[in-house]
Amino acid sequence: MQNAVYQKIETESMPSLRLATAPTLVSAVGLTKVYPRGTETVRALDGVSFELAEGEFAAIVGPSGAGKTTLLHLLGCMDAPTSGDLILAGQPTRGLSDSALTRLRREQVGFVFQHFGLIPTLTVAENITLPTLFSRKRAAQRANELLEKVGLAHRRGHRPHELSGGEMQRVAIARALINTPRLLLADEPTGNLDSANGDAIIALFHQLNREGLTVVVVTHNPTLAAAANRQLTLRDGKLVEDIAR
Ligand code: ADP
Repeated sequence: MQNAVYQKIETESMPSLRLATAPTLVSAVGLTKVYPRGTETVRALDGVSFELAEGEFAAIVGPSGAGKTTLLHLLGCMDAPTSGDLILAGQPTRGLSDSALTRLRREQVGFVFQHFGLIPTLTVAENITLPTLFSRKRAAQRANELLEKVGLAHRRGHRPHELSGGEMQRVAIARALINTPRLLLADEPTGNLDSANGDAIIALFHQLNREGLTVVVVTHNPTLAAAANRQLTLRDGKLVEDIAR
């Protein structure tokens, strides 16, 4: 009995031990994004600073318009900040050319969106290998491995309209993983799913994180936010709360 208790304590304390000693994957320093709006400007992000260690699972939460999607896009080098700095996988992004930013993004980051973003005319396997950096043979092999991982090996030749929403999101996750990124970013990944399919996607994120992938999700889903070990709350473009557990 006592052994079982010790074992439980040891297993439960492992993620925090692992994270405490893990290298930094993301460093955000005073990230600010200002958009023009008519004759005025809007500060979508206003001086946001935090670090994420390799292996963290972070949820970005906050009311609509708080700057969550803007922050996710900056973390994924899909957009550049107006001021502030982002260091991703040890690489300062300030001053990088568009092609260098694209390379960094392709090598380090995978993206998952609320509306899946699959190309309807392509099969599941073709959708997954589309953004690949590998040779065709290696890409096909990797697509098969990923389809196994997300439980959709039997769907590889299907087209998106033949899949359920939950299956489409699993394909989108497989596609995001094709180049073996270190950072997986997801914007409301359960926002278009019923709760059973949403829970399956949450379990998949959890599994990928346990295997070492760093995950950042923007979400209004309390179950998904609770699955994360870190919760970053934005309000009016500012980071107002940063809770780790
Ligand atoms: P959230 O994801 O928390 O709902 P967003 O990051 O989408 O918030 O938006 C934050 C603020 O920035 C909002 O006021 C939004 O209208 C504004 N915004 C976002 N993208 C743009 C853009 N491309 N041009 C102008 N304003 C934008």
